[in-house]
Amino acid sequence: MTVTEQLASRLSDIKPSPTMAISAKAAEMKAEGIPIIGLAAGEPDFDTPDFVKEATYKAIAEGQTKYTAVDGTPAIKAAISEKFLRENDLSYDAKTEITVGTGGKQVLYNAFMATLNPGDEVLIPAPYWVSYPDMAILASGTPKFVSAGPEVNFKLQPNDLRAALTTKTKWLVLNSPSNPTGSAYSAIELQRLGEVLKDFPNVMIMTDDMYEHLVYDGFEYATIAQVCPDLKDRTLTCNGVSKAFAMTGWRIGYAGGPAPLIKAMGKVQSQSTSNPSSVSQAATVAALTGDPSFLSDRNKVFKGRRDMVVDRLNNMPGISCTKPEGAFYVYPSLEGLIGKKTPAGQSIDSDSSFASYLLDAAQVAVVPGVAFGLEPHFRISYATSTEALTDAMNRIEKAVKDLA
Ligand code: PLP
Repeated sequence: MTVTEQLASRLSDIKPSPTMAISAKAAEMKAEGIPIIGLAAGEPDFDTPDFVKEATYKAIAEGQTKYTAVDGTPAIKAAISEKFLRENDLSYDAKTEITVGTGGKQVLYNAFMATLNPGDEVLIPAPYWVSYPDMAILASGTPKFVSAGPEVNFKLQPNDLRAALTTKTKWLVLNSPSNPTGSAYSAIELQRLGEVLKDFPNVMIMTDDMYEHLVYDGFEYATIAQVCPDLKDRTLTCNGVSKAFAMTGWRIGYAGGPAPLIKAMGKVQSQSTSNPSSVSQAATVAALTGDPSFLSDRNKVFKGRRDMVVDRLNNMPGISCTKPEGAFYVYPSLEGLIGKKTPAGQSIDSDSSFASYLLDAAQVAVVPGVAFGLEPHFRISYATSTEALTDAMNRIEKAVKDLA
């Protein structure tokens, strides 16, 4: 038997993260000297704040470099519990209702591993962040999709939710603000979904609030357990420091939820990675307890870029783009370009062919909508310098005009 034949069958249904694959291809082309502008990466171009770095140097000097409790030190759990109370009006007991993992990814994965049995369904509004379906499959679950397109600002509608829920649904996944669309639910919109969920008492709710702090135009952020308190005992409120604090490499994510679920997630983690990095936990305590004023300065920059990118895209024939509430993504439709031909005679028949065309002809890397479950769209990350973004918009505009 070859090594390939030895691989587990559970891998056959999952694909490696397509966003990472495109970023890697763009990086490769860049290394070959091709002047690629990458709009595919899902991380801020800002650096981790200095006060976080300084607290980390201190933690290292003090010897906080050993194993810690599996799902987080008492200090980080206390800081997270305070954060939930201060920012979300949510009361989670630091000892029993908080868990900390190696990035938001591990926390979500632990939750699926701790709960899914074969046949259990995970309801995921599409477009979705690429990892939810594959994580559910790896944990023996079955992803089910419910469409939420641009006509509803990419937000799950109560009637569609009701129609999609079944007796097999174990989880509903919400992600607000969303990757890939940037759309965020208001308190009222969440309450309307909550009304439906009240009729389905066996469904648990996983809310991925990773982009909570990246909202613009005075949007008032809300999370479902906060605005539907009667759902709190079946909601897992997930968050992390990767995006708002520009700490993607530090690998810390966390969640608040019902004690039995939190305990089970800790059990999964205890037999896989054990504790997240001790030093990164110390850094996160500093991030969550420090002065958050840097965020509003950064958000002003993000908002300016979003507005520029949305305006530019909407002025390109065949492309239309909604203006989202948050995150650092936009998710334009290219429906009006389908059927056109490139100068080399290739047909634009899908968002994948459009993304390939942009990479080759304009040297701009974007992620095709097929990766996120709603076509024909593409995702632009505007977490890159305003100068590079302007250049990218000029290149995309030219490439679009060159189509016939
Ligand atoms: N959730 C969403 C919606 C994301 O976009 C990402 C990262 O891209 C994550 C979770 C994972 O975050 P982390 O890097 O902390 O694992």
